[in-house]
Amino acid sequence: MHIAVIGSGYVGLVTGACFAEFGVDVTCVDVDDQKIERLLNGVMPIYEPGLEHLVAKNTQAGRLRFTTDVRQAVEQALVIFLAVGTPPLPDGSPDLSYVDSAAASVAQYMNGYKVVVTKSTVPIGTGERIRSLINERKKTRANFGVVSNPEFLREGAAINDFMRPDRVVIGSRDEEAIAIMKDLYRPLYLIEAPFVITSLEAAELTKYAANAFLATKVSFINEIANLCDKIGCDVHDVARGIGMDKRIGSKFLHPGPGFGGSCFPKDTRALSSVARQFGNESLIVDAVIEVNRRQSSEMFAKIGKLVGPLEGKKIAVLGLAFKPETDDMREAPAIGIIQHLTESGATVTAYDPVAKDEAVKVLPDISYADDEYDAVAGADALVFVTEWNQFRALDMTRVRDLMKSPKVADLRNIYEPEDMREMGFEYVGVGR
Ligand code: NAD
Repeated sequence: MHIAVIGSGYVGLVTGACFAEFGVDVTCVDVDDQKIERLLNGVMPIYEPGLEHLVAKNTQAGRLRFTTDVRQAVEQALVIFLAVGTPPLPDGSPDLSYVDSAAASVAQYMNGYKVVVTKSTVPIGTGERIRSLINERKKTRANFGVVSNPEFLREGAAINDFMRPDRVVIGSRDEEAIAIMKDLYRPLYLIEAPFVITSLEAAELTKYAANAFLATKVSFINEIANLCDKIGCDVHDVARGIGMDKRIGSKFLHPGPGFGGSCFPKDTRALSSVARQFGNESLIVDAVIEVNRRQSSEMFAKIGKLVGPLEGKKIAVLGLAFKPETDDMREAPAIGIIQHLTESGATVTAYDPVAKDEAVKVLPDISYADDEYDAVAGADALVFVTEWNQFRALDMTRVRDLMKSPKVADLRNIYEPEDMREMGFEYVGVGR
């Protein structure tokens, strides 16, 4: 089977590479000719463990191609995935212009039956919007099916998440399209991955509901952590105590500086906007967004209390990406924290194992160190923002000796407070 993936970012590239690995013929398309040029030369536009190998292997096998020629890709393909961005507009609703433009390309070059699948996270009703748009613009009498197949991959673990998903959601009212999707995903049927076959609307809402629920867990544990700070008890004990209850589960109960990234902030705002559009209020989701916003202020206050007046202070920041194992800086908590520090008169030297090139684009005015020890040299305080594994076993004696004053704000609770205090650090974590 031939498929096309329109949009070769995180989701499109992983989708394309993984389907090629399943033996499908895949053409990945993008409007960004530089991105395609680099991909043709084997250079990945993002850092994602295992992706480069998978792309190289399947490109060599002739199953994975990259192009800016959307016509050729659409004409060849039976299934066309739309994996373009849906960034937030100022009012929180998603910008659907990229989805519309990708759907318009499908309409323009449709030369026979096609299954048009949204992988992008889109508001409820987008599938029907795509159906109308293609119907209005298609130049042949060719028929087509519309499917919502939301993507649940996590950056940093994207390939495993695609290959061994907790579930695959397929939403459509077109029986033929559903049958083709099942055929495409046959390797996952063989490993007994569960499938949820449902309506377009339910599939679209499932993606927002899943992300909003996970974001709720994060905001919830952050609220409990802030309470632990006041009470003087350890949020990790509380998280373990509740997480062992199978109805709650232990995942996403790690306190920190708040959620960031390309999905949770955008998708919670989008769900709130969708609810308003349907005349409903999303009280819980709105509170989750507000708690997350306040969590940034809690972090500033924590750093301020530790360091005192920030004017003229040198602060080392370890970790910039919104989470480990990615270079994605979209809505990363580090951005707000660093901007606050520099606006308060501090100078910042930061280090991240892979996100420097992306970080420079949003934080051009800070210094970037070559490694952790370079970052902390002469610092008045060290702030851990992303919990990269390599930060978990630093030579903290060396760190202490390199710093001007040994103060640590550990916003990911990487280290044990007692160990740090014994080593002579003034240490604050989150909820400990
Ligand atoms: P991205 O910005 O990394 O990639 C989008 C790509 O689409 C870009 O390369 C862009 O140049 C390209 N593009 C835009 N318009 C195009 C067009 N008309 N034709 C061809 N290419 C076009 O975005 P992403 O992170 O991959 O996210 C894509 C969608 O998937 C979003 O809706 C997002 O919410 C959703 N999603 C993302 C993740 C994630 O972890 N990143 C997970 C699940 C779902």
